[in-house]
Amino acid sequence: MKLITVKSESQYPVKIGVNWRAEIDSIISIHNKILILAPKSIITRYKLKESSGVLLFQTPEGESQKSLQTVDKVWSKCAAEGVSRADAIIGIGGGATTDLAGFAASAWLRGVAWYAFPTTLAGMVDAAIGGKTGINSKAGKNLIGSFYSPTQVLIDLVFLDTLPSRDVSAGMAEVIKCGFIVDSKIINLAQDDEMDFEQLIYRSIKVKADVVSRDFKESKLREILNYGHTLGHAIEKNSGYKLRHGEAVSIGMVFAAELSKELAGLSEDVVLLHRELLKSFDLPTNYPRSKFKQLLALLSNDKKVRNSKLRFIGIKKIGKPVWFDDVSPKILSKVYERISK
Ligand code: NAD
Repeated sequence: MKLITVKSESQYPVKIGVNWRAEIDSIISIHNKILILAPKSIITRYKLKESSGVLLFQTPEGESQKSLQTVDKVWSKCAAEGVSRADAIIGIGGGATTDLAGFAASAWLRGVAWYAFPTTLAGMVDAAIGGKTGINSKAGKNLIGSFYSPTQVLIDLVFLDTLPSRDVSAGMAEVIKCGFIVDSKIINLAQDDEMDFEQLIYRSIKVKADVVSRDFKESKLREILNYGHTLGHAIEKNSGYKLRHGEAVSIGMVFAAELSKELAGLSEDVVLLHRELLKSFDLPTNYPRSKFKQLLALLSNDKKVRNSKLRFIGIKKIGKPVWFDDVSPKILSKVYERISK
């Protein structure tokens, strides 16, 4: 088992390589009652059941669970079962489930303890780390939420055995991102024939945990985690969410690398490495040329636009992030040509 400590408004451990059932047993011994939130795909595959002191709430599958209706049902269950401040909420599932569980816990009785058991690679290295919780609404995706750290994040690699390969690849986009912005060893490990997931997950979490610990409420430093995400978010939205987050970020990273070559002298070799490595995980690296205008409009509405300036994270070389604070549409158009088909 490997341990990483995240320092935020409180300090909490991320344990990598645990046995999830044993961890649930030890959480039960601390709290009177626990309410587990999990989607059906996890409940049936991993045979989750209610028992003494263990309540179970089946969430809808995927993104649709991050809704006000679902949170309302969770709180109704909390009320009906008398979930008190001494109790805890547990999220076992992908990023959608841990976002929902954290958000529900942050507001029930003004905050009860919660534990994250991420079961997707993206959830393990990204969504469950950093204390951001949230749901979607008519106003938009992830606009309602809270910074509310879990008591512990518990990672059992057994969950990866049942994860569809498309989700493994989408998670690898975030892993590779951590390699390019901070830790070049991740890039080496990702090129190995035999994937050492424990090492990859450990090192990626370390990157996010270190950044978040130094900059909990998202100002300058935390922005480096957005490498590939500025254009990635626009692409994800433009695809009508048909592309997985990690797939859109993959294209966004190739764009960020090309932009870095243009504005910060990143070598052509590293740009090529982006393309080859991402492709080796069946991740997309291009987007249609005809979509540029729509993407530009989406970029201008992004949360990360400041004083109407288009801002991007780039790298000077592997592990050396750089901030591009005002990129002109003309440069964007020129660089977009290189990633479009
Ligand atoms: P997800 O939670 O929607 O899970 C994808 C699908 O895989 C779901 O249908 C799920 O039920 C299923 N699944 C989960 N684990 C499985 C397993 N082990 N075996 C088989 N099937 C499994 O998707 P995701 O990519 O994990 O997370 C995406 C969400 O994370 C988005 O809502 C995004 O906004 C959020 N997110 C949050 C943060 C944050 O900082 N809070 C960061 C990044 C992403």
